Amino acid sequence: MPVKAILALGSNLGNSEDTLIKAIGDICSHEKIAVTKISPIAITAPVGGPAGQPDYANMVVEIETSLRPFMLLEYTQQIEQKHHRTRDVRWGPRTLDIDIIDIASLEMDDPDLTLPHPRAAERAFVLEPWARMDPAALLLGSSVRQLADDAADAGGIREFHPAPVVCA
Ligand code: ATP
Ligand code: CA
Ligand code: CA
Repeated sequence: MPVKAILALGSNLGNSEDTLIKAIGDICSHEKIAVTKISPIAITAPVGGPAGQPDYANMVVEIETSLRPFMLLEYTQQIEQKHHRTRDVRWGPRTLDIDIIDIASLEMDDPDLTLPHPRAAERAFVLEPWARMDPAALLLGSSVRQLADDAADAGGIREFHPAPVVCA
């Protein structure tokens, strides 16, 4: 049975918005993944990491997938590789980051796949596009809309660009 999952995508190197749109195309090209909702693109100040890195383009997608959680992680990491993701500095600039935020409210604490994503509940750059995509969304029973309003980095969202039309 397919389950619902939430992915968060971010980029601040190269043509970030173009990379995010291509990455969504990569996500929905998998035969075991359907993209069911796409958020607008949030342009945000960097949170954490080295000083002086460029602003981020961030977005969230809802999918339905029959992939097991670690297979979904492997596939998202393959897409990061395809878009030349490197890991040098923690929270440093990147062409593409794909985080798995939630899979059907499953809770697990494996360091390679912690669910829900352990930092999602406090990140406006994830919560705000998610709430705009799905105003009724819940993260472990809490309103994503409310969590977004309460997040410390809520003021770091500079603007929104409309959700791209992809995977139609
Ligand atoms: P953050 O996790 O704070 O957003 P990051 O995205 O920059 O930071 P990465 O370098 O992309 O961190 O990922 C580090 C490791 O996190 C990966 O090797 C991955 O296995 C692990 N990980 C644990 N839980 C998750 C999750 N829910 N989604 C994606 N990766 C996860
Ligand atoms: Ca991340
Ligand atoms: Ca990541």
